[in-house]
Amino acid sequence: MSQSEVEAHVAAILRAIDPEPEREGLERTPMRVARALAYLTKGYAQDPASVINGALFTEPYSEMIVVRDIDFFSLCEHHILPFFGQAHVAYIPRERIVGISKVARLVEVYARRLQVQERLTTQIAETIEQHLSPLGVAVVLEAEHLCMRMRGIEKQNSIVVTSAMHGAFQTNSKTREEFMTLVRPR
Ligand SMILES: [Zn+2]
Repeated sequence: MSQSEVEAHVAAILRAIDPEPEREGLERTPMRVARALAYLTKGYAQDPASVINGALFTEPYSEMIVVRDIDFFSLCEHHILPFFGQAHVAYIPRERIVGISKVARLVEVYARRLQVQERLTTQIAETIEQHLSPLGVAVVLEAEHLCMRMRGIEKQNSIVVTSAMHGAFQTNSKTREEFMTLVRPR
């Protein structure tokens, strides 16, 4: 859908919800909302595989690599309201490592789409699994959902935690515990 089509739909929503949709403050709102939505969903146009594949290196390192506290902002696909928080990603390489900044980029590519937190979590884990074939990969996401907080459905300060554990993180409880200790809030 083009930018101008989105603008027309936003204008229709404004007419439906606001008694004075023609007032000055709303004049440029359809354009602003359309631009904001394009930015917040730009991940659809980005290929996760190319993020990873451009930065793969052969390295005989087989200890756990943890990238913690990656800030992310996403939109829940049920309400198109933000959910946001921190992602923690770990993997144990099998001869292949990926540039650390690319892990954060990967989170960004999937977060900038309409999402549910559960799918966002598994997509990050599965992409790393697929392209690095690591001995294990673990992803934990902690987020607050404005669709819960603003609509008062759940406890006001609740945090939703999701995780995906593959390989050694699933089969070896010591490995999993080491990871959970490393990403525990300080
Ligand atoms: Zn929601």
